Amino acid sequence: MSSIPHSILAIGEALESRWQQYRLSGDFESYVEYSLSLDGLLDELQQLQLPGLARTCQELEAFSLPLFGDSSSHPIAPEAMEDVGKMLHTLMVELRRRETPAVSSKRSSDAEPELEPAVWSKPREVLIIRREDHPWGVALQQQLSSFGFRSALTTWESPTIPSLEPLAVVFIPDQAGFFPDTAIEVISSLRQQLQTSRLCALGVPTTLESIISLQRAGIDSCIPNDGHMVGDVLSQILETIHNFEQDQPKVLVVEDSKTAALHIRRSLAQYGIDSMAIANPSILLETLTSYHPDLVLMDMYMPICTGVEATRAMRQIPDFQVLPVVYLSSETDVAQQVEALRLGGDQFLIKPINPVMLASVVKTKIERYRDLLRLSRHDSLTGLLNHSAGKQRVDRLIRSAGKGGKLAVAMIDIDRFKSINDNFGHPVGDQVIRGLAWLLGARLRACDLVCRYGGEEFLLALPGASLEEAVKVIDNVRETFASLAHPHAKGILHSSFSGGVAALPHFVSGSTLIKAADDALLTAKREGRNCIVAARDENMSTPIPLDESL
Ligand code: GH3
Ligand code: MG
Ligand code: MG
Ligand code: MG
Repeated sequence: MSSIPHSILAIGEALESRWQQYRLSGDFESYVEYSLSLDGLLDELQQLQLPGLARTCQELEAFSLPLFGDSSSHPIAPEAMEDVGKMLHTLMVELRRRETPAVSSKRSSDAEPELEPAVWSKPREVLIIRREDHPWGVALQQQLSSFGFRSALTTWESPTIPSLEPLAVVFIPDQAGFFPDTAIEVISSLRQQLQTSRLCALGVPTTLESIISLQRAGIDSCIPNDGHMVGDVLSQILETIHNFEQDQPKVLVVEDSKTAALHIRRSLAQYGIDSMAIANPSILLETLTSYHPDLVLMDMYMPICTGVEATRAMRQIPDFQVLPVVYLSSETDVAQQVEALRLGGDQFLIKPINPVMLASVVKTKIERYRDLLRLSRHDSLTGLLNHSAGKQRVDRLIRSAGKGGKLAVAMIDIDRFKSINDNFGHPVGDQVIRGLAWLLGARLRACDLVCRYGGEEFLLALPGASLEEAVKVIDNVRETFASLAHPHAKGILHSSFSGGVAALPHFVSGSTLIKAADDALLTAKREGRNCIVAARDENMSTPIPLDESL
C-alpha cells in the first residue's frame, strides 16, 4: 500500500472542517467553500495518481455537486446532509489509513505532541547492488540502518528486486572502480522497472564519458569516490524524502469582494495551492501569525485601508519583512503600480487574472521565498536552523507553551571533536557533524527544534516535554550516536556527545533556559563526557543519574 504525503491529509482535514462549518451554518457560502475544497482534494489525488482514493473522492463530488443550487436551496435536506457526512467519513478513514507514522508525528506539531520519535513516511527500503566481495556494501548497509533505513544487498550478476519499489538503489562499481557495459545494462533495465526510486551510482570516476553513460542508463545521481561518499548517499536519500514531504504552498488572499476572493481561491486550488481569504485587513497581522502563508495576494482598494497601506504596516513586523506580496487590482494606472511596488510589494497583477498566470507567479515567488528563508535561517553544512533562527524559535516555543505549558531545551556538544579534525582531517569532522545532524532530525519529532548552534554544538527544544522525558529521549539518541560507525579513508571512527537539559518551569525565559542547559552541558563534560545532565533549578545544575530520573 502506498503512503500519501502530509499535504494531502492536510487538504482532507481542511475539507472536513469546511464541511463542519457548513453543517453549523447551513449557508450557501460555506457550501461553496466546501465544494472548492473537495475539488482541490480530488485534483491532488489525481495528480498523485492515487486512483483508489480519487474514485472515493469523485463519488463524493458526484453526490455533492447536484446539491449546489443557490442560496435559496440551503441548508440541504437532513438526509442529504447525513449522506455527505458518511461519504466524507469513509474518504477520511481511507486517507488516514494511508498516512504513515511520520506523517502523524508531523501532524502533531500544532497539537500536544507525543514523545515518540519521528519515522520516515516514505518506504524506507534501500537496495544496494555490488559485487559479492566488495567491502562498501556491508559498510553502507550498517550506516543506513543507523539512520532508520532498511537495506537489502544484491549482486550485479543476478539482482533481486524487492516487491515494494525501494526509495533508492545504490550501485557500487567493481573493485577497479568501473561500471562495465554489463553493469550499464543492469542499470537500464532497473530504470525501466523502478519508476520512482532514486538511482545513485557510487564511486563514479570523474570523467565526462563515465558520467554521461551512467546518466543515459537512468542514474539520477553520480557520487564521486571521495571522503564523503556515504554521507552523500544519505543526503541524496534524505533530500528525496524532504522533497516528498515538502509542505503545500499557502497563500493568504486579502480581498474585500467575496466573489473575487472565491474566484482566486478556486484558481489556486486547481494548482494545488492552499489558500485562505480575509475580507477585512484589520485582522491581517493575526492571520499572518496563525496561518503562516508563503505569499499574500493583496487587493488594492478595500474599505479600511488600501493594499499598499496594509503592506507597509505588515513590513513593520520583522517576521513579515520579506514575505512576498502580490497586488491584485483592476488598477491600470502605471504610476500607481510603480508607487505600490516601491512601497513594498513584489508584483502587480491586473484583475480579472488568468488562473494559469496567477498560479505560475504565485508558485515561482513562493519557491524563491522559501529558498531565501532557507539561506538566511539555515546552516549550509547540515541544513538545520542556524544560531539566531534557533534562538528565535526557542522564544516562540516558550510563548506558545504558555502558562503552565511544558518545554525542554538541550545543548549538546560533540566530545573531543578537535581530535577528530586533527587525526582525520576537517572533511571527516564535517561528516561527523552532518551525521549527528541527520540523526537528530530522524529521531526527534517534526515539532522539535534542532539547531546548529555553533561548530559542533546543537541546540534542541522539545515542546510538551518535561525535564525527565527530554533527558530520556536525548539519552537514547546519545546511545545510538555513540554506536555509530563513521567511515573515513583509512577505516571507521566512533564519536560521542554530551548534553545538558533544562526545562520549564524551572527556568522561565529563552536565555535562562539556554544558559542552564549550557551549564549542565559543562557539568556533563566534567563528569567524563558521553552523558546527559539535567539542570535542576535556577542556580544549580545537578546531575541526575538516569535510572532515578525516569
Ligand atoms: P570537548 O569534548 O570539551 O567539547 O572537546 P572538543 O575538542 O570538542 O572542544 P573544542 O571546543 O576545543 O573543539 C571544537 C572544535 O570544533 C574546534 C573547531 O576547529 C572545530 N570546528 C568548529 N566548527 C567546525 C566545522 O564546521 N567543521 C569541522 N570539521 N570542525 C569544526
Ligand atoms: Mg476591493
Ligand atoms: Mg566539543
Ligand atoms: Mg564546542
